[in-house]
Amino acid sequence: MSVLRWPTRNLLLSALLLCTAAVGAGTEPYDRQGWYGEGSATSDDVQRVPVPPGHGAPDSVLVLEGGRVFDGTGAPARPATVVVEGKTITAILAPGESDWPASAQRIDASGLTVLPGLIDLHTHLSYVRQFGLPAPLSAESVADGTLRGLERMHQYLLSGITSVRDLASHGEVPFVLKRWQASGRIAGPRVFPAGQLITGRGGHGTEGFALRTYPGHAQAPVWEASGPDEWRDAVRAQFKRGADVIKLGSHYSQAEITAAVDEAHALGLPVTVDAETQYIDMAIAAGVDVIEHPLPRSDAALRAMAREDIAAVPTLVPYQYIIRHSGGYYGSTSRRFTLTEDSILEMTRAMKRAGIRIGVGTDLIVDWSDYLPTAYIDELENLVRAGFTEAGALQAATRVSADILGMGDRLGTLEVGKLADILLVAGEPDRKLRDLARVHTVIVNGRLLVADGRLHSEPLRPAQPPQLSP
Ligand SMILES: [Zn+2]
Repeated sequence: MSVLRWPTRNLLLSALLLCTAAVGAGTEPYDRQGWYGEGSATSDDVQRVPVPPGHGAPDSVLVLEGGRVFDGTGAPARPATVVVEGKTITAILAPGESDWPASAQRIDASGLTVLPGLIDLHTHLSYVRQFGLPAPLSAESVADGTLRGLERMHQYLLSGITSVRDLASHGEVPFVLKRWQASGRIAGPRVFPAGQLITGRGGHGTEGFALRTYPGHAQAPVWEASGPDEWRDAVRAQFKRGADVIKLGSHYSQAEITAAVDEAHALGLPVTVDAETQYIDMAIAAGVDVIEHPLPRSDAALRAMAREDIAAVPTLVPYQYIIRHSGGYYGSTSRRFTLTEDSILEMTRAMKRAGIRIGVGTDLIVDWSDYLPTAYIDELENLVRAGFTEAGALQAATRVSADILGMGDRLGTLEVGKLADILLVAGEPDRKLRDLARVHTVIVNGRLLVADGRLHSEPLRPAQPPQLSP
């Protein structure tokens, strides 16, 4: 297929749609990759902006020998050796084969399962550790938020999570963390930020008891918008900062969410939404890509999600925490219905039965990231209770979640040519999910970041200073 055919076809399609539909609403976005020539390097994030060759790649060769490889493709685990050159998986060899440079760093993976790094599709890296009165470690300053984010990135990384989709954090914080991680200067998972949550006046995330949102404040985690023009503007503001995804929250009018989704898609960004009941119907009509949480929706909405391939990220664990702690979910303007542990699990079962793609996200607000890795494993166990096999839950956490990120061609499986985000754990997690807590080694973008279950640090490698003495 010629490289130019995609945009040409989409131009024709768009012209047809413009003749038959309201301008903007429902217009198919172009596939931006169609404009890149054969072999040109787009970036390793959802935005697909071209980057110079070698960008962010380490100068090393890693060989993972003697392990049991669960590659995430659906194939059963098998003994194999994985070779990583720079940031790329370059070979998967049968046992006994050896084909790597003498300088390679060899890692003994015997007794371990080698699998794709886990993905968490719903984080809030900068959120306060405690709601209410200012408390130590919960200050709303950007500096505090950045350090909270770095601390959480270490918690995710040490739990085997190599990518996080951050669905609202304070101001610039997630973008700064993303850039520092991508350049290899701080250890952590890849960060795919949404920037601020965009919602209507009094919508989800703006409740008085929760986050102090400072409406219109550039450093707040939430942006309140009114009317289609403001919703478009809010999307552009996140794009300007470098968002990889747009996060919308109810409440909104049909015109507002249609405008926001149209704007995001025109900019090449996927959209996810925190919504319930009729707001899910509006989100589906607007053409969103993903819907978060296990909130109520109609059977018709479930069928429409499956038909339109709108993915779901159920995030059961935080709802279980809230329900255990408070006996229900109270006080949110967008949660005006009864939620029980049974109802949220039943909604997840219904989504699975409907054939909706389901990814993994934990939405660990306040100090709940301290519960990792158990919180993440509990979410996978929830999927098993909703009808997945253990191996299927692991695929949801890797291949399917990479697809939902828009990174299915780069992440989510162990295959030659993919980016090297790799997890080594003791045991057989595809048969026993609890083995995911036995993290041994974590590699992100070809960099060894966790070794023997601890953050791996390199010795100081000073740059050569100017010669000052004769
Ligand atoms: Zn959330």
